[in-house]
Amino acid sequence: MSLIIVGTVAFDDVETPFGKSGRMVGGAASYIGLSAGHFVKEQHLVSVIGDDFPQEFLDELQARGVRLDGLEVRQGEKSFYWSGKYHFDMNSRDTLATDLNVLATFDPKVPEAAKGAQYVLLGNLDPKVQLAVLDQMPERPKLVILDTMNFWMDIALDALKEVLKRVDVLTINDEEARQLSGEHSLVKAANKIHTMGPKTLIIKKGEHGALLFEGGRMFYAPALPLEDVLDPTGAGDTFAGGFAGYLAATDDPTFDNMKRAVIMGSALASFTCEAFGTERLMALKAEELEGRIAEFAELVNFGQA
Ligand code: AMP
Repeated sequence: MSLIIVGTVAFDDVETPFGKSGRMVGGAASYIGLSAGHFVKEQHLVSVIGDDFPQEFLDELQARGVRLDGLEVRQGEKSFYWSGKYHFDMNSRDTLATDLNVLATFDPKVPEAAKGAQYVLLGNLDPKVQLAVLDQMPERPKLVILDTMNFWMDIALDALKEVLKRVDVLTINDEEARQLSGEHSLVKAANKIHTMGPKTLIIKKGEHGALLFEGGRMFYAPALPLEDVLDPTGAGDTFAGGFAGYLAATDDPTFDNMKRAVIMGSALASFTCEAFGTERLMALKAEELEGRIAEFAELVNFGQA
């Protein structure tokens, strides 16, 4: 099954306790495409860039099955730019700059070839753009997954609430779940967020793993303790891409299969953290991913009879 992916294709500049990246390729949809490409053969990217974006990276996406006919290239304009600085624990960060540039006036166009897609991942982006994508789908897709962040809760909460009514799965981090629901307890937050639309909620907790909530059921996936975490930027998007890509490839959005999809997303995200930007994900081989999935299985295997 093909997958539509929506999100930023951007330049990032990141500082962590272990170094500075300088200007590098990033963006939610970049991580999503690289990650989902491990499972799904055909993805349709809906995004916008300026004329400053490197063609080599777009070629890399295409080589992984990401179709670019929904990627608008604006001549004479700049791509989205984000910069951030991580705290020592690497679980939290401060945003230093968010320059929307081309994104400020983006009017997304879903290509004809993508309109039959049954799986849609609305990656982190302006909720108005996410809504415009859903409005162009001739029929409701089988599964719509939404990823967002506090930035959009702060400046576009009403539009975000409209998108929430139309999605099946929401992925956000713990702090954002608390902000969106006004509840401290994550279980109460999940219950409240279900009433806003998504029947399934995933709360990402950085190095402490991820929680999946659906219909009173819960599943917990740990994050693999890593020896070296250089840069967690894009881990959330990588997670969402792996989760959505696995569900689209297996065409099975049941709770039991979502548990597996959460592990796939977590395994992929662990690689993203090992180097700055998209570097590690770009170099990742299928055998390495399989090995890491086995490590996850072993991490929580307590030999229950
Ligand atoms: P993550 O670390 O998974 O939260 O994602 C970081 C990526 O999200 C970076 O590559 C940024 O380019 C992108 N990003 C940061 N802020 C925003 C925003 N407000 N909207 C869309 N994408 C963003």
